[in-house]
Amino acid sequence: MPLLPRRFHRLRAVLDRRMADLTVVLEHVEKPHNLSAILRSCDAVGVLEAHVVSLKGRPPTFNSTAQGSQKWVRLRDHPEPGAALRNLREQGFQLYGTHLGRDAVDYRQCDFTGPTAFLLGAEKWGLSEEAAGLVDRQLFIPMRGMVQSLNVSVAAATLLFEALRQRELAGVAPSRGEGLAAERHRQVLFEWAYPEVAAWCREQGRGYPDLSAEGEILEDLPRQLRLRC
Ligand code: SAM
Repeated sequence: MPLLPRRFHRLRAVLDRRMADLTVVLEHVEKPHNLSAILRSCDAVGVLEAHVVSLKGRPPTFNSTAQGSQKWVRLRDHPEPGAALRNLREQGFQLYGTHLGRDAVDYRQCDFTGPTAFLLGAEKWGLSEEAAGLVDRQLFIPMRGMVQSLNVSVAAATLLFEALRQRELAGVAPSRGEGLAAERHRQVLFEWAYPEVAAWCREQGRGYPDLSAEGEILEDLPRQLRLRC
């Protein structure tokens, strides 16, 4: 089915609100319903891409809880937490671990308006010592009940929506595409609008064609490929 202008405008409006500087790193979170719920919250808040450190031989899987959000929030898989966290730090991210220890601070006292990564731990064990040792700050969400921790997807949603709330209040939540670099915006918009053509371009090692204001591809493509657009 051809891409209708209305659909294209919707894709662009959503991308215009995406934030490349807000993310989660999920260390060994592996239950499909948790991963799915977290990606769905990422999509709702406007996270451009998320990170997972998956256990060897157990790639992330999703279920219907995701409602397709895995299509709209790219999940980068890392073999271990160290390199992923160092890379985020080099990009200027403040790394927040979610740890219920004594040195952790109440998340409501933190400023999430700058580049922010929340590191969330496994359902059963929480964060590894290695990962906990690499963060800038540990934070916690205060609880008043009998149970000692929240479900990991609930913790992720609470933190992400607090970050969005702070950014909206500070007037720094993007609305016109300023949350990601212009070239990245162009690429992601193309991938969202034409995933099959984007995959073909990558296979061919060529850049994505330009799009018109209404989302039409401004280049002649092989007939077979055009028929699938
Ligand atoms: N026994 C584990 C522990 O001690 O960390 C519990 C893990 S908890 C079910 C899974 C993850 O959810 C945690 O690693 C953390 O990322 C997040 N989480 C749960 N409750 C939290 C809270 N109150 N504050 C911050 N993060 C929380």
